[in-house]
Amino acid sequence: MKKIQLDPDNWSAVIEPGVTAFELQKAVTQQGYRVNTAEPAATVCANIVCTGLFSTWANAYGVGADHIVDMTFVDRHGTVFRINDKNAPNVFGFEQAVHPPPGICTEARVRMHPVTDDEEGILVPFTSLADALFFARDISRRRIGLAVGILGGHYLSTFISPTESLAEKTRDIFSGILEMTHVVSVIGDKYARNSIKQMVPCVIESNTLKMLMLGLPRLAGSGWTDIVTGLESDRPAYESIFSQEMLPVLEQVLAPSPETLAAAVDEDLREFYTNLYSRPHMTDMVWLTMFRIVSARMSRHKHMFAFLIYAPLDRVDVIQDLIASFADIAETHVIDHDLGFITPMDFGKRGILEYDYYIDHTDRTESEKIQQAMKDIEPMIDKLSAATRGVKFLKYIFSQGCARKENFLYT
Ligand SMILES: Cc1cc2nc3c(=O)[nH]c(=O)nc-3n(C[C@H](O)[C@H](O)[C@H](O)COP(=O)(O)OP(=O)(O)OC[C@H]3O[C@@H](n4cnc5c(N)ncnc54)[C@H](O)[C@@H]3O)c2cc1C
Repeated sequence: MKKIQLDPDNWSAVIEPGVTAFELQKAVTQQGYRVNTAEPAATVCANIVCTGLFSTWANAYGVGADHIVDMTFVDRHGTVFRINDKNAPNVFGFEQAVHPPPGICTEARVRMHPVTDDEEGILVPFTSLADALFFARDISRRRIGLAVGILGGHYLSTFISPTESLAEKTRDIFSGILEMTHVVSVIGDKYARNSIKQMVPCVIESNTLKMLMLGLPRLAGSGWTDIVTGLESDRPAYESIFSQEMLPVLEQVLAPSPETLAAAVDEDLREFYTNLYSRPHMTDMVWLTMFRIVSARMSRHKHMFAFLIYAPLDRVDVIQDLIASFADIAETHVIDHDLGFITPMDFGKRGILEYDYYIDHTDRTESEKIQQAMKDIEPMIDKLSAATRGVKFLKYIFSQGCARKENFLYT
């Protein structure tokens, strides 16, 4: 169940169904490669079959059938088949209906990808979703960058904050005072990052992000309102704060270190956090994006219901309407809600959008609210999907995760 057999000459790895994303990524990373995986605890075979395995790496590596060279299944009658066999059931097709899985996957040969030693993360801040969308689509169609994701205020602040209260304060500072309502997070080599720096007025490079992460309690605690008010610029505040001239000042103010960060957690956890954040991995965007161990933080304040929709990325109006509809339904049912992420795909022609609802799962009235909200959400997406090509609800892709992406993105 746990076999991982790397075949570097053939750019692939053979895995059994008990192998988790974390285990596989760790094994291939040690040999200098990468696989596209999502949640670290998810078993890779199940993830492919179940959701088609989407992540911010989908921008470069795709989804669904893009992940696989071959898979072996046992169907409900006990028949064993390989999907590469000409006589096998067609798992590559897609139908807009709720389907059972093709069977139990007993083995998969998944694709491995090359990695260069100059990859780093970079964040591009924006004051509006429309601008962030345009930029993400633009770099995707130009083939700039590998993992690309538009993040709203909640995801960014939550991922980098070790506590819930620090995440809330950080969000207020990022969105409110620094005016960055959205960021486009990109993992790319030096050529990609250099191109991006020529395209936008402001970026947050990996060393600045590391500084922010390790100095976060001081970012949340200091008098940023006064500093920003004193800047007297008609440009967004983040452009001044993250300018080259300001970085030494920022470093002085934040005093970034594992100890500074650990000051945000309860006293009995401080030593642990100091040791944890002394590891370079915990502030390395490439590693964090590949292994995703901090994404568990997104459900820290409440249980999350994630809604995933493929959408045409050039239709900013459709995406904004979709987000507004999710927000309206949540407000009607008094449910916490926020944009999760949007990742461009297939040269920016399409994207995948996650919108999240948050409920207190220990409160029965909250679970009733989500049940009522679902009655509004499903028809809303079905109607949009019928009227707009490229809009597809992940609900219909469940168990058809081996399908070719073209069969659900363009039908
Ligand atoms: C917080 C959170 C975030 C997530 N983020 C993402 C994300 O970004 N991208 C993404 O793609 N998914 C995401 N998921 C979905 C999840 O990771 C996948 O559905 C994954 O399949 C779960 O893995 P598991 O090993 O727990 O599978 P299980 O929960 O055990 O199984 C999932 C489904 O697959 C079936 N299954 C299990 N094993 C096999 C097998 N060998 N052959 C055939 N069918 C099988 C099960 O019957 C079940 O229907 C997220 C889930 C959570 C809770």
